[in-house]
Amino acid sequence: MTKAEIPFRDIAIETASRETIARIQLEGLRRQVAQGLKTDFYRKRFAECGISSPEDIGTPDDIRKLPFTTKGDLRDAYPFGLLAVPKSEVVRIHASSGTTGTPTVIYLTQKDLDRASDTMARSLMAAGGTKDDVIQNMMTYGLFTGGLCFHYGAELMGAMVIPTSAGNTLRQLRFMKDFGTTMIHATPSYLLHLHAAIEESEEISRGDLRLRKAITGAEPHSEELRRKIEGKLGIEVYNCYGMSEMNGPGLAFECVFRSGMHVWEDRFIAEILDPDTLEPVPEGGTGELVLTILCRDAMPLIRYRTRDLTRFIVGECECGRTHRRLARFTGRTDDMLIINGVNVFPSQIEEVLLRTNGVGANYFIVVEKEGVLDRLTVQVEITPETFADDARVINALRDRLKAEMSALITINPAIEIREPGSLPVSEGKAKRVEDRRPRE
Ligand code: AMP
Ligand code: ZN
Repeated sequence: MTKAEIPFRDIAIETASRETIARIQLEGLRRQVAQGLKTDFYRKRFAECGISSPEDIGTPDDIRKLPFTTKGDLRDAYPFGLLAVPKSEVVRIHASSGTTGTPTVIYLTQKDLDRASDTMARSLMAAGGTKDDVIQNMMTYGLFTGGLCFHYGAELMGAMVIPTSAGNTLRQLRFMKDFGTTMIHATPSYLLHLHAAIEESEEISRGDLRLRKAITGAEPHSEELRRKIEGKLGIEVYNCYGMSEMNGPGLAFECVFRSGMHVWEDRFIAEILDPDTLEPVPEGGTGELVLTILCRDAMPLIRYRTRDLTRFIVGECECGRTHRRLARFTGRTDDMLIINGVNVFPSQIEEVLLRTNGVGANYFIVVEKEGVLDRLTVQVEITPETFADDARVINALRDRLKAEMSALITINPAIEIREPGSLPVSEGKAKRVEDRRPRE
């Protein structure tokens, strides 16, 4: 690829000097502090750090004077505690899993949405997307940002977007064939599943499809898995990182050189900190990604602890972009599980168990692979009284647990009812989760 062929949406910003980026970040940070001061939450937090005005932020390094924000803070601020504009200015909300039943919610004004769509469009163009693409979005539509936020960015780029949402693989394949889909957006495990479905299909073969690229994210995956999917489907696969708290997918995205994800630093400040000391790691070292959003008025989020572990890739990218690149994520610092792209906290499962009559003292969560997809099983001890009851009562309890859990975590667990005292009781801190998925 020659230099002139490298695609950009906004070449001036994407290749801006580091000095320009630092200046944009400083202005953005001050604006976010001003927005924060409009919320009780940050006014109080800032006061504890001696910050009472945006003027207290004089240099980019002054970000270190500012407090951190956690998922727990978002839970405490639910539903509107972090709103920095009049409620009538909000045009949409999105949400992700909280550590308990309270979801993590964000709110956006029309301008916020426009900027989020522009960031997404920029990401897609960096990956070589164009208005001629037919993009099929196989991520869930609804509160999850992978549906609508991705969709609006793809539309803004001018592509034809097919909002099939997740699941229904046969219909996905039919649409891919009939509408000439060139790009898809799905989790890595779903891409493998799609490939297996093509292999099995008597109706559709790879030769019927015009697919050239897949955008993937929402769950950690390895370079080996990327290569495997690329080889099987004969396409290019691009890694896309995002989270609902930061307006969804596309906050960091791979360019056509596919060597790490550029974080859009005019819109986000990324720090990589030692999760214990909360001090910056040495250049190129692995640590927790901490993000400050600069492009949202409705809901400031300052130094948000993502709990995701990664590092900056040292050196320049061949594409000429100056925005730094993140390496693949290697894990998290908390116990969040990502099951078929959906975030699940063991504490959410526990919450359902604790409030249900007939459930005993012990439970165990198992995550494993069933084919290429993930499967969640919750083994539940029941009380001796319930165990002595007839099968109808036990089946009703199982159905109820299944319904309540899937309502909360949005995926369907298998519930295995166990005899009282049959699950292992560990000494010290109970080990209640076993992730048996092979690390790919
Ligand atoms: P959500 O807010 O529901 O979109 O979930 C966001 C979380 O999904 C992040 O904090 C990461 O743990 C995970 N995630 C999203 N994209 C990726 C990716 N490309 N690689 C690894 N993990 C990812
Ligand atoms: Zn690049």
